[in-house]
Amino acid sequence: MTNFKEEKTFLMIKPDGVRKGLIGEIIRRVEQRDLKVVALQMFHPTIEQIDEHYPKDEKWIRRLGQKTFATYEKYGLDPLKDFGTNDDLKMGKMVRQWLVDFMTSAPLVKAVIQGVHAVDMVRKIVGPTIPANAEMGTIRGDFSVDSPAQANKEKRAVSNLVHASETPEEAKHEIELWFGNEPVHEYKRFGVDE
Ligand code: UDP
Ligand code: MG
Repeated sequence: MTNFKEEKTFLMIKPDGVRKGLIGEIIRRVEQRDLKVVALQMFHPTIEQIDEHYPKDEKWIRRLGQKTFATYEKYGLDPLKDFGTNDDLKMGKMVRQWLVDFMTSAPLVKAVIQGVHAVDMVRKIVGPTIPANAEMGTIRGDFSVDSPAQANKEKRAVSNLVHASETPEEAKHEIELWFGNEPVHEYKRFGVDE
């Protein structure tokens, strides 16, 4: 039988999270939900590492463009006027490049989090991508207020404090990429494992 307590996800505190002094707060919110930190480190990534971290497939890049366009539509903005395109893929490629610039602009904190439905639970704690849409009580909703409406004008990625894997497959890829052969630690959490 699958042991749901063993599910792992990858969490990364982005440059704005580190620079706002939110490392402790973010980890606290994860631990508060009885999820277990099983690996944790501060580091400064290379451009190549970040390029490997974010998916390169067309579907994912288009989705990135679509998230921008959804905000543009909601606020009555015209992407053609701002960016000379309304093509998902072209927009997505621009955002991906800004994302690489952003993610290499300061040290980051990377972590592996373990627990029942770790992937979904951590996404729930983090909140949706665009902070302006994130509910109070989520990390993105409580500590940031960015939107593609503003970020795109400044030719930068949306600052949203944290990265968290969206699926178990994404988690597996990211844990391997960022922790490789480094051991994930095992211990028993009071009240959870005993
Ligand atoms: N992003 C952006 N503009 C957008 C959509 C996303 O700058 O319109 C950035 C944002 O920092 C986001 C990252 O790209 O966290 C990765 O996007 P994804 O759709 O995977 O969102 P996440 O999984 O981080 O919620
Ligand atoms: Mg994502």
